[in-house]
Amino acid sequence: MYINVPEVKVPRIVVIGCGFGGLELAKQLSKAPVQIVLLDKNNYHTFQPLLYQVSTAGLEADSIAYPIRKIFKRQANFHFRMGEVQQIVSAENKLLTSIGELKYDYLVIATGSTTNYFGIKEFE
Ligand SMILES: Cc1cc2nc3c(=O)[nH]c(=O)nc-3n(C[C@H](O)[C@H](O)[C@H](O)COP(=O)(O)OP(=O)(O)OC[C@H]3O[C@@H](n4cnc5c(N)ncnc54)[C@H](O)[C@@H]3O)c2cc1C
Repeated sequence: MYINVPEVKVPRIVVIGCGFGGLELAKQLSKAPVQIVLLDKNNYHTFQPLLYQVSTAGLEADSIAYPIRKIFKRQANFHFRMGEVQQIVSAENKLLTSIGELKYDYLVIATGSTTNYFGIKEFE
């Protein structure tokens, strides 16, 4: 089953991840003749630099989590789908995700990073 996205004649750029990287890229391409489909496993962008303020009760969680659809509501070439990417089938230019398959012309992987605790279990 394919994810429902409008079929258009311009190239489709699929962006995985709406952190700083994916968000900024999608904004920069707002006027470009492309279709942008952004996938994220959450429907919000997290402003990580203020995470510690939430964990120390200085801020409410919704002060650092912004709905992705709201951020892009005026961007005509943008589509958001919430789902987790499970596999990239590069030979067929398609993704397998928790909500179905999706074809792409160009793929941007902006899934962030994981913290390296240098093997120190207590820090983890
Ligand atoms: C506490 C803290 C403080 C920080 N302070 C600063 C600072 O002051 N200045 C600064 O420049 N940087 C700071 N950083 C670092 C900065 O936040 C990160 O470098 C930046 O958020 C990384 O952006 P990113 O787009 O690469 O990834 P992320 O912001 O991690 O975004 C990745 C996105 O991909 C999604 N995703 C991942 N895997 C999948 C998948 N399989 N399918 C679908 N979606 C997926 C995630 O849900 C997420 O939304 C801080 C980080 C932390 C944790």
